[in-house]
Amino acid sequence: MTTSILVVAEHRDGSIKQVTYEAIEAARQSSLDETPIHLALIGHELHDITEQLSSSGVTTIYSVDHEDCKHYNPEIYAKVLTQIIEQSGAEGIIFGHTTIGRDLSPIISANLDAGQISDVTAIEQTADQVLYTRPIYAGKAFEQKTFRSTPWVLTIRPNNIPAAETSENTATHVEIEYKQPDSLRTVIKNVVQKSTGKIDLAEAKVVIAGGRGVKSSDGFKPLEELAQVLGGAVGASRGACDAEYCDYALQIGQTGKVVTPEIYIACGISGAIQHVAGMSQSRLIIAINKDPEAPIFKLADYGIVGDLFEVVPLLTEEFKSVLS
Ligand code: FAD
Repeated sequence: MTTSILVVAEHRDGSIKQVTYEAIEAARQSSLDETPIHLALIGHELHDITEQLSSSGVTTIYSVDHEDCKHYNPEIYAKVLTQIIEQSGAEGIIFGHTTIGRDLSPIISANLDAGQISDVTAIEQTADQVLYTRPIYAGKAFEQKTFRSTPWVLTIRPNNIPAAETSENTATHVEIEYKQPDSLRTVIKNVVQKSTGKIDLAEAKVVIAGGRGVKSSDGFKPLEELAQVLGGAVGASRGACDAEYCDYALQIGQTGKVVTPEIYIACGISGAIQHVAGMSQSRLIIAINKDPEAPIFKLADYGIVGDLFEVVPLLTEEFKSVLS
């Protein structure tokens, strides 16, 4: 039995990330006996975000609001989060399987000597246990795991578990005083923002990804237009990043971001295993490639054999007329 579960909220530029609500739902599905669910909120100038989260269905919001927490620093966040875990008494901690969650969760697991199950895509309750499903071997197989002890730590892959519904009950807010760590091994000197206000690739419902087949940075323009019409985000293969057609922030795959959108359109991407590792769980995969033998077609639900510079603008025009 777990006494209470703590969800680690994520937010950026004043907006709560969708994965926070999915993690709250994961906490609910992890609870066999109406376990209280709490939220950890760390950052700076959190007033509006706290307000928004107060109807998220959690019992308590524990927040630490300080300018030292404005940007993610693993040393500070781990210390602050440990303080919240102690105060809340939580025995289960849930993160999004995001850049921050992937970095912070193992630190917390090690500090708590906890078991960890990462990158969970589905949760199933039986009479006496909770089973967590996660992809293995680059998405070629799945395994189901369960915890045998507390404390435990979980990370959930964005876009897989439905978001928690809002609640009429208002969460209690507990503000915890920030205690500056005695010493820090690393400090943030500067944050260089590369992607500007666009949809977060890891949470996008539609991803239009370009590979080496786009041939230049200008070659991404038709993909950006299609993404705009569909309200999606643009991603890339490492081939396109290595060729300097786009920034590495867009890379999807084993060494890039893992995405699970409802629609994934691969344009000029061959379908190497390392790329597939980051997108194979997408609900619907459409591949556009001029080589009918390209491996991506084995994975795709729909394949279009053709030149992406002809096919993508046609799709954009068609979607524009259907959606307007
Ligand atoms: P290519 O394999 O060169 O394919 C380009 C495709 O475009 C071809 O299929 C071609 O037919 C098609 N094409 C060309 N012109 C057109 C056109 N006009 N219209 C339509 N189709 C066209 N890769 C990743 O993506 N993500 C990772 O995270 C990643 N991690 C890696 C980690 C390691 C340790 C290693 C060794 C490799 C990793 N890779 C990763 C690289 C991976 O192995 C591939 O090299 C890479 O995915 C290939 O990118 P691509 O499909 O864009 O390029």
